[in-house]
Amino acid sequence: MSTIDKFNNHVMQSYGRYPLVMEQGKNRRCKDENGKEYIDFGSGIGTNSLGYCDDKWADAVCAQVKTLQHSSNYYYTAVQADFAEKLCETAGYENVFFGNSGAEANECAIKLARKYSFDKYGKGRHNIITLVNSFHGRTIATLSATGQDVFHNYFFPFLEGFINAEANNIDDLKAKLDDTVCAVMIEYIQGEGGVNVLDKDYVDALYKLCEEKDVLVIADEVQTGVGRTGKFLAGDNFGKKANITTLAKGIAGGIPMGACLADKKCSGVFTAGTHGSTFGGNPIACAGGLAVLDRVNSDGFLDEVCKKAEYIKSKLEKCSEVAGMSGIGLMIGITLKSKDAHDIAQKALDNGLLVLTAKEKVRLLPPLTITYDELDEGLNILIKVMEG
Ligand SMILES: *Cc1c(COP(=O)(O)O)cnc(C)c1O
Repeated sequence: MSTIDKFNNHVMQSYGRYPLVMEQGKNRRCKDENGKEYIDFGSGIGTNSLGYCDDKWADAVCAQVKTLQHSSNYYYTAVQADFAEKLCETAGYENVFFGNSGAEANECAIKLARKYSFDKYGKGRHNIITLVNSFHGRTIATLSATGQDVFHNYFFPFLEGFINAEANNIDDLKAKLDDTVCAVMIEYIQGEGGVNVLDKDYVDALYKLCEEKDVLVIADEVQTGVGRTGKFLAGDNFGKKANITTLAKGIAGGIPMGACLADKKCSGVFTAGTHGSTFGGNPIACAGGLAVLDRVNSDGFLDEVCKKAEYIKSKLEKCSEVAGMSGIGLMIGITLKSKDAHDIAQKALDNGLLVLTAKEKVRLLPPLTITYDELDEGLNILIKVMEG
């Protein structure tokens, strides 16, 4: 039986998958079961930030696998301490809680914000404002937080306590920010929502409003964090630091990990027994995370991310099918003039290039380590497919 048949017989069919069986990868290229090679402009949806099986990352992960693969969070491990220290230093936060996914990091942020408010103001100040077109995850709480009606189906009842406001509309936020609200949760760049960047003026006004009312800002940087935008956090592009920032996707280079970072205000909110996760802060994931941080923090690395982004945009601008581009750094949304994004993604795949889509756009999240030669090769395929 073929892998695809076996898979579909036994794995729940909750995804629309491309008929591609991925077998192996090295750096920015991967191969399917027939030996066909692909350049990856999607990084497995932003997870493989250093590409496939990067040598130093793989060495660090393998060494950890052979030393201590897991322990209980009732004990300490040096590798979790090392990673937490370096992550907090790099991101500019006080402390961190580790989980295993973006949704779990956001669950942590929601709990943290509500408990911060409960501890200080008591009951009734539990609402969290999220933005229309946001995406925060697939658990019931994070689906409830997600500001897209298409996600609010089947799984009723969804949770109370989330209010949607229109992105880039400060009057709408002002009207909804009453004394039942403990936090506003944003993506600086809505990823799944279509690579939509928030306006700088809106972000400034949002922070000012929240500061005045001691309402926390939660930045969901699950997709935008850890160097993706050419800064360590997307918030750095706006000169802003949220009270709580969540990370996942690329944080450990392709090993499951989520992180919820807290500033001074929120760092003491959780006490023993108030939150937990069996696998959170797993030593293998932390070793992978340390390898990612080493690279992202190395001299000139983030400047290169910015330069590569400019290079991509300068090439795509000349393509007759491109109507516009959005995003920051190596998170790029391409609006097409007449073609269908999913169709382009399928044709790119047929021609040996993996790209993503977001709503009606083609979305690129290439590995941060991609070379100019690989960019040329991939962009030539993409442009040929778009113009074809
Ligand atoms: C992917 C994503 C999530 C969900 O992450 P999972 O690891 O799939 O739970 C949440 N928020 C944003 C912004 C994302 O891009």
